[in-house]
Formats: sequence, C-alpha cells, structure tokens
Amino acid sequence: MLYRNVPKTGDTLSILGFGYMRLPAKKGGGIDEERAIAQLRYAIDHGVNYVDTAPAYHFGKSEKILAQALADGYREKVHIATKLPPWSVQVHEDMDHILQSQLLTLHTDHIDFYLLHSLAHENWEKMKRLGVRAFLDAAKKDGRITHAGFSFHGDIATFKEIVDAYDWDFCQIQYNYLDEQCQAGTGGLKYAAEKRLAVMIMEPLRGGNLAGKIPDEVQKIWDASPVKRSPAEWALRFVWDHPEVTVVLSGMNDEVHIDENIRVAGEAHPNALTPADHERIQQVKETYQRLMKVGCTGCNYCMPCPAGVDIPGCFALYNAHHLFPHDRSAKFHYIGRHGGLLSDVSYAGLCKGCGKCEKVCPQHIPVRERLHEVSREMEGGMRVIVPVLKGGLWCMSKVGRFRQAFSRKNTVVKGNHD
Ligand code: SF4
Ligand code: SF4
Repeated sequence: MLYRNVPKTGDTLSILGFGYMRLPAKKGGGIDEERAIAQLRYAIDHGVNYVDTAPAYHFGKSEKILAQALADGYREKVHIATKLPPWSVQVHEDMDHILQSQLLTLHTDHIDFYLLHSLAHENWEKMKRLGVRAFLDAAKKDGRITHAGFSFHGDIATFKEIVDAYDWDFCQIQYNYLDEQCQAGTGGLKYAAEKRLAVMIMEPLRGGNLAGKIPDEVQKIWDASPVKRSPAEWALRFVWDHPEVTVVLSGMNDEVHIDENIRVAGEAHPNALTPADHERIQQVKETYQRLMKVGCTGCNYCMPCPAGVDIPGCFALYNAHHLFPHDRSAKFHYIGRHGGLLSDVSYAGLCKGCGKCEKVCPQHIPVRERLHEVSREMEGGMRVIVPVLKGGLWCMSKVGRFRQAFSRKNTVVKGNHD
C-alpha cells in the first residue's frame, strides 16, 4: 500500500480509502452485514487506513455497521471520515446534536475527518448563515473532530469560494477521466492542493460506469494497449497519477475488486502514466462521451421519489441500453425491475414532475426531461407486456403447485407400497 500525507497536519493516509456507501447485499435483500464487516477488516489488514461513511448512506445503517466493523481493535488502525448533512440542520445547535449522535453511533470519542456533506452554492450559504465555521472551530478545539473538510458537488466558482472561506484541512471532490471539466474538476483539484488541502476523490469509476460491463468500442481501445490492465485499474491509475490527490475512495463490496484495488494501490505512484497511456485514456473518454446518455452516478441523493420512480435504477438501465446496443437484456431488466413484474412499479413514466430530485442532484441532471426520454424509449409496450407476463407467471405458479401436490401424492402412494 502506498501512502500520501495530509499537507497541514502530516497525517499519513493510504491512497486507497474504503467507501462505505455501497455495502454488499444479501440475496433476499438488505445489507449482508457479516460480509461488509469482513471486507473492511480485510482491507485494513492489507494497509487501508481511511474509511468514509455518512448518515445518509444506507439510510443510517452504514455508520452503525462501521461501528461494528471497527470493534476488536480496528478503530485504532483507521481514520474515520463521516459527514454533517446540511439538509438536517435548521438551527446552529443542530450541528452539535448531530455530531454528538454520530459519536455515539460510531462508538468513538472523535471523528478524524469530518465533512460538510455535498456542498454547493445554496447549502453553503445556509451553513455559513447558521454559523458552521464557529461550530467547526469549537469541535476541533474540544477534540471531537480532528480535521475539518467538505464534500462538493457544485461549480468551480463556488468551490474556490468555499476553499477560501475557512481554514479547511481537506476536501472531497468527484474526479475521474470523464469529469475533468465537471464540478470542481482538474482546476478545483489543483486549486485545493495549492492551498494545502488534502484532496479525497469520490466516484473514481463514476458509479461503476467505467468498470464492469464495458462497451465493445471501449474494450477494443483497452485491448489494443501493450500494457494489460482492467478498465477499473486504468480509471484508478488515472486519478492516482495526479500528485495533488491524497486518497481515492472506492465503494468496494466485492472481494475480487478489493484485492485488485489493494494491489494497484501498492503500485500507482504519481506521474507514472506514459504519454501513450494518456492518449489511450483520452480515446476512451471521447468514446464514452459519445455513447453515454445520462451522466447519473447512482449516488441516490434524489431518492426516495414521492411518485415511486427508481430514478438511478431507470437511468442505469437506459445507459446500459445505449452502451450495449446489441444486448437487449437492459430493456427486459427494465420491465422486470421497474415495470412491476417482479416488484413494485418504479418506472420513469410515473414521474409527476415535482422537481424535488433536480434540487439535490449533484450532477445537475435535468431529471424530469431525461426520465421522459427514458419512458419513451424503454416503456413502449410495457403496459401490455407486463400483464401478459404476469398472467404467465401466475399460470406457472399454479402448474408448479399442481405438480408439487401431484408428486406429494405419488410419494405417499409409493411410500405405502414400500
Ligand atoms: S420530478 Fe419526478 S422523478 Fe423527480 S422526485 Fe418528482 S416525481 Fe420523482
Ligand atoms: S439522478 Fe442525480 S441525484 Fe439521482 S442518483 Fe443520479 S446522480 Fe444521484
């Protein structure tokens, strides 16, 4: 594992941070807590010393499971980063109450890295008005927090303004090879580093879109490289190549990915990519920009939708539908998952246009307009297909029950003969 320093305090952090926001799921639904705990402990045993959570992750469960994971001596081996949710702060005193309850939940007497969550222009203005800087000063002074920072999803001008408005120790920005000009972007990364802030990176794989199932056109570009790396490794190495980056957060929930990330984090020195590597990444970037329909990272900030739309779920399958044009499974999955075939309806066409999601979307996606497109392209015939398929499933279950009853009867008859 390679390590980099926090400029203002000299703390040494692993360049790979464990994002505790996409925890492994159990087969029947819910979080596989045992696996989530084992995965984090494994990563810590292999050199990871930074873990990032928030009250918003898994509707509060992430912090609770993290506390369990850090029992048995693991707390002392790792820096905890968690966040103050500006949307839960109405008066100054709320900040103290929230921090106090986080310390209790996390079974600790201090938070190592404390962030204002998901700042952009409006919520920064609100937090300033409510005296967040005095709160941070006091919490640092009495030792409840060690480093003060903020995570960010606004524009570059607001980013610079926030960086200059307080003596921050660190910030957390979205950064990957598709987002060099998006939000804080490369300009923000360099600006923060010049001001001696540690910079933590979120979404290095853009919500998994840059890894996993890769479009053929993109895969061909990677395959042509004389150096063999997985798409995830290329994306991570791109971020670590920047000396201004301190920690890259990866929301890991698969043991194979954890091992791969730990291996790469032991090799990815800054400025190590060659001009040919950069050229290849640029080609991939241009190809993605051509193929991707909606820049949704799956962060879930817009959820729940009052009309029941699974916003990130619909966008993910819409993107998959366009990224893999020969594969029709995205449309089938869409009908299965969102059309009400296998679970409650959650399709794009349910949108009532209230606009709540657009106010919180860190990617500034015009969600209503894009959902309208999704509905038009993905839901053609769905209202006919779903009742037919449901009827088929009903018949199959009836036949299944009949078969079960029949075989039970035969078993009994056979048993009598024996
Ligand atoms: S605009 Fe549509 S998708 Fe967004 S929160 Fe409102 S109903 Fe849901
Ligand atoms: S639409 Fe925006 S807020 Fe919702 S999951 Fe996607 S990126 Fe996040």
